Amino acid sequence: MRLAPRVTNLKASATVEMTERVRAARAAGRKIIGLSSGDPNIATDPRIVDAATKALRDGDTHYVSSNGNPALRDAVAARELLRTGASYAPTDILITPGGKFALLAALMAVVSAGDEVLVPEPGWVSYGPCIQLCGGVPVPLAMLDRIDIDQLAAAITPRTVAIILNSPVNPTGRVLPQDEIAAVVALAERHNLWIVFDQVYSDLLHEGRFCAPQATPEGSARTLVVDSFSKTFGMTGWRLGSLAVPGGLIKSFQRFMQHSVYCVPGFVQQAGEVALSLYDELVPQYREMFRARQTLAAARLDAIPGVTCVAPTAGFYVFPAVGPADAAVSARWLDALDVASVPGSAFGAAGAGHVRLSLSTSDADLVEAMDRIQRLAQQEGASR
Ligand code: PMP
Ligand code: GLU
Repeated sequence: MRLAPRVTNLKASATVEMTERVRAARAAGRKIIGLSSGDPNIATDPRIVDAATKALRDGDTHYVSSNGNPALRDAVAARELLRTGASYAPTDILITPGGKFALLAALMAVVSAGDEVLVPEPGWVSYGPCIQLCGGVPVPLAMLDRIDIDQLAAAITPRTVAIILNSPVNPTGRVLPQDEIAAVVALAERHNLWIVFDQVYSDLLHEGRFCAPQATPEGSARTLVVDSFSKTFGMTGWRLGSLAVPGGLIKSFQRFMQHSVYCVPGFVQQAGEVALSLYDELVPQYREMFRARQTLAAARLDAIPGVTCVAPTAGFYVFPAVGPADAAVSARWLDALDVASVPGSAFGAAGAGHVRLSLSTSDADLVEAMDRIQRLAQQEGASR
């Protein structure tokens, strides 16, 4: 039977596929240290779990509003005001099944067949495929260390409709500074472009101010804000996220929800409300835990001859430079050391020469992984 090129031509997700490989290897008895998946090893707080089970027992087992529960939209808008200063009416927030679906909902609403979307790279593996699913054309642009505004401007054509920005960046952990954000907003204004802003790691910023395009009126008028509970609260499997849109436009985004997943389960949304109410108690601990791991991993990796690693200031990834053969290095770590990672080139050509390690494992396993990588480097150094 014939399948549509829409799916047959789509690249598989390198992050999800690696996680599947790790799962299969573990099922076959191998003890893999999984540093490949952006899935924090945080058990969802029991009070959040209780909220969901109570809601289920109380009968929250029906369809709910396709926009999201008013109370959760309120709480998301309040958190956004605290985080970036951007003021959204709860009616400008759409509750989605995860940030990935928020991204797809955003692109569905603004990308028509043949439209181009600029994607600075290295970047998360799903941006290009989500653009393609909407009939659009991703235009990847190499920007490892900074958003190069001249390069972005030069890539704009009459078909360009949007720029995807992500901060903190997956895979590098880089936090976009205010001048880069302001330059992108000015460029987007000049060319009447949307900014799709993915801030799913913004709660894991170690310190300092988080800069976002929606923080100014000019920016928020053309920004679609993708957010998620996944990384902040260790809730990846719950599938809970949100999309914030400029005032008055929500209807168009809502239609995509209505005709696809309909709504996020009510009991999941009730759990999300409790999660946000516990923000000040829970999130600083998680942030500190990841920061300590990034400091440790970056120092251990940087001490290895031929490897350079700077500790990022956010998130839970490290992105060491390992030399040109990143795919071979990652494969060797998996085959010889039982340490799973993702080659940097999976995040676009600009990520080549790096490996992404997700520090989403126990501290003991992380130290063990670092020991193994160091020993292998010593052996290979000695045999050279
Ligand atoms: N954006 C980025 C940059 C990510 O790394 C992820 C990880 N899955 C997502 C969005 C979406 O996450 P989720 O769908 O679990 O909210
Ligand atoms: N975002 C995470 C990662 O980059 C989870 C997997 C995915 O959705 O890509 O590993």
